[in-house]
Amino acid sequence: MTSTDHAAGSANIGVVGLAVMGSNLARNLASREGNTVAVFNRSPEKTDTLLEEHGDLGFVASKSIEDFVASLATPRTAIVMVQAGKGTDAVIDQLADLFEEGDIILDGGNANFQDTRRRERDLAEKGINFVGVGISGGEEGALKGPSIMPGGSAKAYETIGPILASIAAVAEGEPCVTHVGEDGAGHFVKMIHNGIEYADMQLIAESYDLLRRIGGHEPAQIADVFAEWNSGELESYLIEITAEVLRQVDAKTGGPLVDSILDQAGSKGTGVWTVQNAVGLGVPVSGIAEAVFARAVSSKPDQRAAVRATLQGRPEVQERTDSFEDDVRKALYASKVVAYAQGFDAIVAGAAEYDWDIDKSAIAKIWRGGCIIRAQFLNRIVDAYAKDAGITTLLEDDFFAAAIRDGEDAWRRIVATAALSGIPVPGFASALSYYDSLASERLPAALVQGQRDFFGAHTYQRVDGEGTFHTLWSGDRSEVTTD
Ligand code: NAP
Repeated sequence: MTSTDHAAGSANIGVVGLAVMGSNLARNLASREGNTVAVFNRSPEKTDTLLEEHGDLGFVASKSIEDFVASLATPRTAIVMVQAGKGTDAVIDQLADLFEEGDIILDGGNANFQDTRRRERDLAEKGINFVGVGISGGEEGALKGPSIMPGGSAKAYETIGPILASIAAVAEGEPCVTHVGEDGAGHFVKMIHNGIEYADMQLIAESYDLLRRIGGHEPAQIADVFAEWNSGELESYLIEITAEVLRQVDAKTGGPLVDSILDQAGSKGTGVWTVQNAVGLGVPVSGIAEAVFARAVSSKPDQRAAVRATLQGRPEVQERTDSFEDDVRKALYASKVVAYAQGFDAIVAGAAEYDWDIDKSAIAKIWRGGCIIRAQFLNRIVDAYAKDAGITTLLEDDFFAAAIRDGEDAWRRIVATAALSGIPVPGFASALSYYDSLASERLPAALVQGQRDFFGAHTYQRVDGEGTFHTLWSGDRSEVTTD
């Protein structure tokens, strides 16, 4: 391993944690002009491997955290890329003991934004800047250019912004990084990004299921359909890789690989966190929630088998119409608009709750490259929020309102056809119901308020005047004001 004695204070940036993400990020940093990258990993083997394979990148490697810290130029800047949770806390504690006032610790892991807020508060007491950084794009993104969502203070961003911009993906000529907002804003927005990713994947999966079971196409044909869709308004990384996955032939069976994969989808923390937080914030992210629940339903083999055992037949699959494929495409697009609108609503609500000044147009911009939900469509979101950052929902923007109008009939046909055919489309159906809820002149929430007042004296407001009212349900049923 390289000695660091000769290199004290020589690195402008350091990386702690050299598993797949950290080593790729370190290589990305080291390949950019002007960066000298210090590296450290708890167990030395990963450092040795990085140096053996990519030592030509001029890393300044250390065997101890003390040497690592000594190798950093002041103000010291280190990116922590270790296992989220306890691992991150352990490394932060070690760095905090050695760092001085004005130094900067970045956490590039998938931290819960509440942990990030706590860590920022704790480190601020020592004068150390802590920046939670959402990084999307997986291992390839880390190496070639991820989408980067840093929170933390504006002051810290002055130092780290140029470094992060040097390694970020570039979309439409702009680096996919922006100062998202203070303390945990970066990890919060990364969490919402992942939630939207869940919704997008579920909607694509439902489209595939419909094209297969009603459309009667084989996976390879559906791959062609997705490849064609990828040249239009749906152009995106997820549509692109869907075509690749569907085209893949299983070496073992000779059939489509998708048919050999167990149909039980798992999930890690971020989709669930998005739903939990959105519920707390009172934001209906039904598209994301349905995607999380759809994975949960798929992973209940016992319940699935038990219900299948009760069946005495299934609904007849409806005839496909001439416009069927196009209808599915339009339903996918409309549902996707809803999912993104809900995701941005959650960002707005989070910003209000935690006092972050988040530029929604800038967020849509940095998601255009490097990350899993990168898509042509994000340009339209950039435009919508640039035109009017104060819109109450993306669905009121002229472009998206027209897109929904254009796809509305197809969307309704698809949801109805799926229901009649016994094919689950929780993503499409909930997106349509959400849209219809917003579009309805009156909602049955009035009755719900009446019920709440009946059993819990929760009171209600009237359509024809100010004030709060209660009906004396167990008395003479007259109405009283409660103000
Ligand atoms: P990982 O498997 O999550 O974590 C392994 C790394 O953490 C190793 O370097 C390990 O050191 C270190 N570590 C664990 N506990 C530690 C402790 N108590 N003290 C010091 N080091 C400790 O690695 P990863 O997949 O590269 O991910 C790194 C972070 O990026 C995670 O937070 C992950 O959620 C996030 N992330 C991952 C992806 C992805 O696609 N993989 C994408 C975005 C973000 P040893 O080698 O000594 O065990």
